[in-house]
Amino acid sequence: MFNYSAPALSLKGKVILVTGAGDGIGRSAALAYAQLGATVILLGRNLDKLNAVYDQIEALNAPQAAIFPLNLETASEQSYIELTDIIDQEFGVLDGLLHNAALLGMRTPIENYDPITWEQVMKVNASAPFHLTQSLLPLLHRSKNASIIFTSSSVGKIGKAYWGAYSVSKFAIQGMMEILADELENTSNIRSNCINPGATRTAMRAAAYPGEQPENNPTPEEIMPAYLYLMSDDSLDINGQTINAQQK
Ligand code: NAP
Repeated sequence: MFNYSAPALSLKGKVILVTGAGDGIGRSAALAYAQLGATVILLGRNLDKLNAVYDQIEALNAPQAAIFPLNLETASEQSYIELTDIIDQEFGVLDGLLHNAALLGMRTPIENYDPITWEQVMKVNASAPFHLTQSLLPLLHRSKNASIIFTSSSVGKIGKAYWGAYSVSKFAIQGMMEILADELENTSNIRSNCINPGATRTAMRAAAYPGEQPENNPTPEEIMPAYLYLMSDDSLDINGQTINAQQK
């Protein structure tokens, strides 16, 4: 596992937005950031799941979270403007942005890939992080040190049969992260990096590998060190890099 131990309350005072915060890795990251003192904005498409995470954060006696329900597949330009305005009014700044939400789509040859599913996956996994980043950059610029984390995958580095739009979207995310890192280096206090979580025990993993024993993979909680490191001020010099959450 990536080796990092976060000092207590090391994210105190930071405002961090997590997409796909209702389940899986995003849920764990939201809880872990809150536990270290951050105010977390929970973004996702399922209000019940977001409410449950909100309650868990409250039970930790962590700073009160905020909820912004949004379906990234159908979000309009207006939704991004509203989100940005609300964060501006409530907090005036954004210190961290974790692009975590994603759809798996189909596992099938390109020849058979359903075009509608293709568009859905590209929208959630690649276009939404662009719109969200572009809209929130003015608030990230106001932070003393802002961190944008994108979520990559091993099939976003080497194309593999049957991974279709998911794989293409992860290639796109890797490119977006590198472009942004290059653009923001030396001109801002914003850094941009990727985390490749590796095989992790979530609903998406179970859907992608139905024959696998879930307990053979680490839980989302276990892969948190990389997520905490890149969000903390201990990673101020890291820009344009991809960290493997399960690196030995
Ligand atoms: P997950 O358990 O399926 O969680 C994905 C989250 O994204 C869920 O909260 C889901 O909401 C949300 N989401 C999906 N579509 C959305 C939409 N249209 N609008 C808003 N939110 C949406 O998956 P995970 O395994 O935690 O994956 C997290 C990230 O890690 C993804 O980027 C994934 O590609 C990446 N990753 C995972 C693995 C792995 O082994 N798990 C490996 C490599 C990369 P609902 O709760 O409503 O479904």
